[in-house]
Amino acid sequence: MMKIGIFGGTFNPPHRGHINSAKQTQCQLGLDKLLVIPTAMPPHKELPEHSPTPEMRLEMARLAFEGIKNAAVSDMEIKRGGKSYTKDTLLELKALYKDAEIWLIMGEDMFLSIESWYGAEWILANTGLAVFARDVKSVPVSHSEKLKSLYGTTVELISTEPVNISSTSLRSFLKKRKGREYLSEEVYTYIIKNRLYGAAPDFDWLREKSRRMYRQAVDRRPHLEGIEQEAVRLARRWGCNQEEARTAAILHDITKSLDTNEQLKICEKYGTIIDVAEKRMPKLLHAISGALVAYHEFGVSDEVYNAIRWHTTGRENMSLLEKIIYLADYIEPSREFDGLERLRSLAYTDIDGALKLGLEMSLRDMKRRGVTAHQRTRNALDYLVSKEG
Ligand code: ATP
Repeated sequence: MMKIGIFGGTFNPPHRGHINSAKQTQCQLGLDKLLVIPTAMPPHKELPEHSPTPEMRLEMARLAFEGIKNAAVSDMEIKRGGKSYTKDTLLELKALYKDAEIWLIMGEDMFLSIESWYGAEWILANTGLAVFARDVKSVPVSHSEKLKSLYGTTVELISTEPVNISSTSLRSFLKKRKGREYLSEEVYTYIIKNRLYGAAPDFDWLREKSRRMYRQAVDRRPHLEGIEQEAVRLARRWGCNQEEARTAAILHDITKSLDTNEQLKICEKYGTIIDVAEKRMPKLLHAISGALVAYHEFGVSDEVYNAIRWHTTGRENMSLLEKIIYLADYIEPSREFDGLERLRSLAYTDIDGALKLGLEMSLRDMKRRGVTAHQRTRNALDYLVSKEG
């Protein structure tokens, strides 16, 4: 007889605790099929405010369980809508798999409260329970004996190495750039990309992603490490958000090693208008495509988007973070050029003075090399000069 395990939950988000225990249960019970079913609305608790949509939870569950053999994620409760009562789901499944043996999989918290569920008597008389511990080493045996004598329930205790995490605590970790170790890479990426739970990306993850996108022979690491240090130092000096400065520094050149066509494709994908001058200057394109990737794939804020967007040309009326990234890129410790020391010391005493000098030096350098400067750089300089006057 076919053995099917049903693992229901809110999965808001699905974490390693869910995955480990599902895998372990599948193995111990010898399940032919594991059905993971995200609820539409859990009957026993409120979904927290600003939770992802049911479709997003469904997608996260798909990503989390996709590598597990014989596992499938079902949208039946989400499709049914309203409060998701387990009894309704079981009735539907029993009609669908007439000859199968159906097991309900759950943690000990659910197990201890099951008698209060809608249709509990029917559930307990018609379904086996596979129960695992969440944060203690054993599930109360007395409770399974009680259910067996009252309802004839078969309870199978699953031995797992508990992962001490809940979706609730994970949601609060994610806001603090923590918790990545409890999630699959795919689910974490989805959360960051879709800006779920107010999650801010883990810096190590960003560094890794950013390094992986550089496909150049030249080692960019000294520059990347240098700009990160410099940007944070400048942010501390000028009272700017240090985390934002670090994020912008790590990601500022993320698309730099892509060729022009690849960069144009990114701009097209996200529907950005590029001016003719920028199209003609491939060196400038990475600021646009990089800002777009940072925004759409790494969920950065508008401020970080702008700091990356304007880090090559500058622009009129730059924000403090924009100035910091522009200057940090110029003066970070691995740079060497005439006039660097003056620019460095000015950056820590008079940031607008440093920006003005940086723009002037950059325009002079381009002229010397016969490169046409983008008008935006001249405008940025004119703006600072007009403010002085
Ligand atoms: P929340 O913190 O939002 O209440 P949760 O982490 O308890 O969420 P649910 O999606 O409500 O997760 O749980 C689905 C199922 O997974 C339940 O049976 C629950 O007992 C079980 N479960 C949750 N966390 C763990 C864990 N760390 N280890 C094993 N099982 C877990």
